[in-house]
Amino acid sequence: MNIEVQCCGVVILALIWYFSLRQKTLKLASEKLFLVTMAVNSFCLLMDILSVIAINHQGFFSGFLLALICKTYIVSLIWVGYFGLIYALFDIKETKQKQRRENRIYTVGVLAGTVLIYSLPIHYYLEGDIVYTYGPSCTATYVFALLFVLVTLSKVVLEGKEMNPKRRRAIIMWMCIWIVAAAIQFLNANLLLVGFASVLGMVILFFELENPEANLDRETGAYNAHALGEYTKQLYDKQEGFSAILVAMGGNLSAESDGSSQKTDRMLQDIARYADKLKDVKVFKTLERELVFLAEDEKRMWEVLRDLKNYINYLWAETAPFYVVLPDSTLLGNVGELFLMLRHFRISRRKDSTKNSIILDETQIRQYKERERTEAMLRCALEEDRIEVFYQPIYSTKERRFVSAEALVRIRDQEGNIIPPGIFIPIAERNGLISQIGECVFDKTCAFIKKNRLKERFGIEYVEVNLSVRQCEDLNLAENYIRIMQKHQLEPSCISLEITESASIRIRENLLRNMRLLMDYGVKFALDDFGNGESNLNYIVDMPVSIVKFDRDMTQSYFSSYKAKFVMEAAMHMIQDMKLEIVSEGVETREQAEAIGALGIEYIQGYYFSRPLPGEEFLEFVAEKAY
Ligand code: C2E
Ligand code: MG
Ligand code: MG
Repeated sequence: MNIEVQCCGVVILALIWYFSLRQKTLKLASEKLFLVTMAVNSFCLLMDILSVIAINHQGFFSGFLLALICKTYIVSLIWVGYFGLIYALFDIKETKQKQRRENRIYTVGVLAGTVLIYSLPIHYYLEGDIVYTYGPSCTATYVFALLFVLVTLSKVVLEGKEMNPKRRRAIIMWMCIWIVAAAIQFLNANLLLVGFASVLGMVILFFELENPEANLDRETGAYNAHALGEYTKQLYDKQEGFSAILVAMGGNLSAESDGSSQKTDRMLQDIARYADKLKDVKVFKTLERELVFLAEDEKRMWEVLRDLKNYINYLWAETAPFYVVLPDSTLLGNVGELFLMLRHFRISRRKDSTKNSIILDETQIRQYKERERTEAMLRCALEEDRIEVFYQPIYSTKERRFVSAEALVRIRDQEGNIIPPGIFIPIAERNGLISQIGECVFDKTCAFIKKNRLKERFGIEYVEVNLSVRQCEDLNLAENYIRIMQKHQLEPSCISLEITESASIRIRENLLRNMRLLMDYGVKFALDDFGNGESNLNYIVDMPVSIVKFDRDMTQSYFSSYKAKFVMEAAMHMIQDMKLEIVSEGVETREQAEAIGALGIEYIQGYYFSRPLPGEEFLEFVAEKAY
């Protein structure tokens, strides 16, 4: 009988079944669909063999039964085509409604084909070992099967550009093999290749995509990062909530020595093996060599967390792992956000290794998202040059005029609204954008002073520009700032740089190096934020500043607290004895301005005189008040 090819097909399918079912799987939707397609294929192949046997032994079967067997075989062929198409569509991004509507059309098609094939007559050819079927029923099969193949091909080729490229390639190969086999069988009816061609399709899909082994991490036996992506994406798509725990091993993994890397490997293997036995939990290993545990509900997750911590503390206490816990996945909108969050908190841990766990509740996530939004806004503003500098005049109580100003950064958002620095400076300091912003502000300020000849026209002798602690660490700061002043041909005496206190000795050393270079060039320095809680008089002694700025809190408490008044007076005398000048910030009323002047403080900055003003308005202001 000409069933050798089909028998080979059966053996191949049996092997694929074995390898598919042997491994644990995540039961992803595509895996399930693949298994259904496999089942229909297997059924088709068995019916193929059965039909050849039945034709060969026509005497044993009634005419009706023979026709039923042969027609069931060819009907199953178009069902294979149908499932091939459904499997292919799985990855094509369309709206759910459109997908559902299309699937309905294909289902009606396959049912109509089934009815038609069963109702049309079929004929059998039998000569020696060679058997095959022909007649209207077979022709209908060819037509329907070809239709499914062509629809599948056109969908995948024309609309599948965003599909998983492996899936796209595998399906195209499968369909092409099918067309070739069908053409050969059509021309040479005794070569029964179509069933086998479909088996080849299964082989390609299995090796390219659906081998469960491809979702496993070889080292630990846990699911791998790819599987984590696919699985969580599916849960988000289906809107099924879950809870997650990420366990990062101690230290900075990328900087591990060989010894500790091997230890981490052993630890990962051990914990993954332990966790594999836990019920209702799936364990994944990420590319950063952390373990992620997913549980279907929060209650189970807390139990798992408790057990895990006990296990790790007992066996691996010295590794100090870090836990990121996400009790409710629906707090995040999609799988992309999930990975961004995990990445963010993994990095923040590397910076601050004192924490050993973090629970991502609503507040945490909201703050994180706000930070992300502000960061994006900042980058965009820098790119589109929407950084602006406002100037707040500073009044000299001795000379009774405005002698200087402070440059204060603002961002104009896309709608034209002004965003104050309190919102973005802390974030820029954390992500390092502050250096770029600081340089931009400095550049604009230098250009402004030079262009408007502030000193000659308005008697504004210098402008104060804020430096963030993060900038002071940078050993290129002095060089960059000197280059900017040279570019604008600006006298260094027109600039005073404001620094703030920092507890870090390393930062202080770098800051001092920068300060010396800039002071040699002719720039002077002011100490900002004095009196805001953490001020230290020693800092004034150590730092070569010529101005000390009393913080708004200090100025205000002078008027509200009896004791604070003495503190401020004492500080003032000490600072003046050191031959330093003082600016009192945050003066809001006439009474306050008069009292501060009477106290003997040289400079006043505050809303009483003016808020920080855009460049043009500042020029108008000082033009009116000059001399
Ligand atoms: P700062 O350097 O202490 O600047 C003084 C802040 O006090 C300014 O706030 C100013 O508008 C505000 N202020 C002045 N007088 C009064 C007053 O009478 N009442 C009240 N309520 N506030 C007053 P602003 O412009 O929002 O800046 C806040 C902080 O942002 C600055 O504090 C400074 O630390 C930082 N900053 C501003 N521009 C820059 C910059 O270009 N670079 C860096 N690194 N930081 C900057
Ligand atoms: Mg300041
Ligand atoms: Mg200040």
